[in-house]
Amino acid sequence: MESVIERIKRGSFSQFHGGIHPPEQKFLTCSKPIASAQIPEQLIIPIRQHIGQAGNVMVKVGDKVLKGQILSDCDSPMSVPIHAPTSGTITAIKSMAIPHPSGLSEACIILTPDGEDTWKQRHICPDFHLLSKTQILEKIANAGISGMGGAGFPTQVKVSTLAKIDYLIINAAECEPYITADDLLLQEHSPTILDGIKILDHLLTPKNILIGIEENKTKAIAALKKATADTDHIDVCVIPTKYPSGGEKQLIQILTGQEVPSGVLPSSLGIVMQNVATCFAIADAVINDTPLIKRVVTVSGQALEKPQNIWALIGTPVGFLTGQCGYNNSQNMHLIMGGPMMGFSLPHDQIPVIKTTNCILAPSEIEIASPFSSTSSKEVECIRCGQCADVCPAQLLPQELLWSAKAKDQAQLAKLNLFDCIECGACAYVCPSQIPLVHYYRVAKAEIRQQKLLDIKAEKAKVRFEARKQRLEREKVARVEKHKKAAEARKARMNTDTSAAKSEKSAVADALARVKAKKAQASIKQNTAEGSLTSTVEMTAEPVDDSKSQVANAIARAKAKKIAQKNQAQIEPLDTLQNNELPSSSQAAPVVIDKKAKVDLAITKEKANENKPQAETISNSPTAQVNTTTKALLIEVVNLASVSDDKATQALNKKVKVAAAIAKAKAKAKTKTAASLAAETSFDRTEPSTTPANIDVMQDSDTENQVKNIEEAKAKNLAIKSQQISNATSSSIKSEQDSMLATQADIVATKKARVAAVVAKAKAKKLADSSNKSTTSE
Ligand code: SF4
Ligand code: SF4
Repeated sequence: MESVIERIKRGSFSQFHGGIHPPEQKFLTCSKPIASAQIPEQLIIPIRQHIGQAGNVMVKVGDKVLKGQILSDCDSPMSVPIHAPTSGTITAIKSMAIPHPSGLSEACIILTPDGEDTWKQRHICPDFHLLSKTQILEKIANAGISGMGGAGFPTQVKVSTLAKIDYLIINAAECEPYITADDLLLQEHSPTILDGIKILDHLLTPKNILIGIEENKTKAIAALKKATADTDHIDVCVIPTKYPSGGEKQLIQILTGQEVPSGVLPSSLGIVMQNVATCFAIADAVINDTPLIKRVVTVSGQALEKPQNIWALIGTPVGFLTGQCGYNNSQNMHLIMGGPMMGFSLPHDQIPVIKTTNCILAPSEIEIASPFSSTSSKEVECIRCGQCADVCPAQLLPQELLWSAKAKDQAQLAKLNLFDCIECGACAYVCPSQIPLVHYYRVAKAEIRQQKLLDIKAEKAKVRFEARKQRLEREKVARVEKHKKAAEARKARMNTDTSAAKSEKSAVADALARVKAKKAQASIKQNTAEGSLTSTVEMTAEPVDDSKSQVANAIARAKAKKIAQKNQAQIEPLDTLQNNELPSSSQAAPVVIDKKAKVDLAITKEKANENKPQAETISNSPTAQVNTTTKALLIEVVNLASVSDDKATQALNKKVKVAAAIAKAKAKAKTKTAASLAAETSFDRTEPSTTPANIDVMQDSDTENQVKNIEEAKAKNLAIKSQQISNATSSSIKSEQDSMLATQADIVATKKARVAAVVAKAKAKKLADSSNKSTTSE
């Protein structure tokens, strides 16, 4: 079977689908030498001139830079650095319009040349064989070389492939009309291009090297054949002229007969393709240590006086180049970057030349009909003629792509393999409806790329959200665990028998008590607020709800009865003590104590005489509870006054105070009976037994020794009684509070209970004052 090389040597090539033969118009520039680069007043250098990410800017405004100095580095394989095309000063770093069909603006470095064109230090390496592959790849990467045929793919990535390469194809087809940059580069610099091909041969070690060039470039073909005459595995393949034979997939098919499937890289088929301009840049970088700072640009069109190819510094405004070629812009005609088939119109002439710029067109009105031209035709509806599909080299369905693009149906565009479109413009060229099909495809591609970016951002945001959620959950679990451990440690500490543990226990108990008190206070406040609207009326003895009043009365009666029984139990021992158990012997006692003891005894006796016959009667009165409690407390207070120098009595004094406070709280907790209590608890001035008349009787009755003994016994009994009263009162209050809450009568009672408490407190104070006065008078 005939091999590919044998077939090529025989001059037989495969054909790709479709294609067109537009007017070449290469005669304008193909026979003129490349003009040397001139330095403009200002260079506009976009940071991103390739497919991939932009590099990091390494200079700042005001920096002086040398020719070839790096301006941005890269930390990603898909990022390519940029360099200063000449020496000068960085005057700005700002967003400016870049060469793109969308007219987008991106960050650009503005360099004002100093005119000296001073190079940075370079290391020339005439023999690249002395370098390792890694060093060569590093030089290519540091030189900022990206595909100069138009794609802008980072070259170091393309030539770093580990795949086994069968064919290294050098693309010299340059099929688009008007463009002759590669043609002239081949004519003038074939040896350097061959050096670049040899470097690629050294890196990729392909089985065959094929240079594809269209048959319309006779001078370039001759130069190439002369340069490659001494090489045995490099074949110059002269192919038929047909647009777009310079497309990557199309040229591969022409030379090797293989079709590259959709979504598959040529390297996976063992094929790598490089442009001739890229080969020149590789040689310049590896051998001359020269970064990619200039390129050949075809400046053509019948609107120019001197169309020609020019060495242009990267960043040169197109207006500067067209000015070199005698462009008269008096008619304000538009410029095109790229060829007439794949190029795009520029918004103004200050758009800079970048690494992928191969042509600037300044067409006359009769050359290219355009929307800006008076001779342009207007777009009409698709007539479904199918001519676009016939010429499509990617075998797509351009009319269906058009409809889906107009409908923004991205799913359908994906099914129609929109991204296989090489934007060759052949479909638009043949369209009888003058539809700018490529424009629609570019917009659709940009929208899909934008949507993909948004999807990626959304996915990243989702990942961040999930990570945050998990982190918060972990922190919550850790916090709970930490608190649990701390609680266990605290519990362990408190269980130890140390003073610190006791102190901590006490602190915890105090804290709990404060919390409870706060809760109770809040509850009372809430109840008070709820009952505020009716409190005024109720305090002025308005009749209250019968059911609530009955409940409150029942509680008050039960309480009064209970306290009366307790009082009775307290008084009986005192009677016994007074009548039967007085000690026979006694010691001399201070006069004050003697008097107080007598007063105490008289009070006790009178109280006993009062309580005994009336206990049953007063227990039914709401006032009985308060009066009885008050009397008992008064007795104890008076007794305490007489034994204040005794330690046990001091303790009792505290307990009595506690009992008084509890009685006050209890009075506050009174509900429905408050009104009646307030009415009935009017102070009974005849009740206290500490009147001067009673004291006189006591003075006449007993001896001082007997009184002292009685006092001691009474102090002891009072201590017991006080404790009993305190306990009974606390229990009573608690049960009452529960009952009150259960009966929901506490709203009105709170106010009334406060009144009762105030009355009780006043009564107690008055009684105490009276007692003191009587004691003093004695
Ligand atoms: S060539 Fe134009 S008119 Fe014809 S089918 Fe294609 S888009 Fe429609
Ligand atoms: S521009 Fe796209 S759709 Fe049109 S012919 Fe070229 S590859 Fe086909």
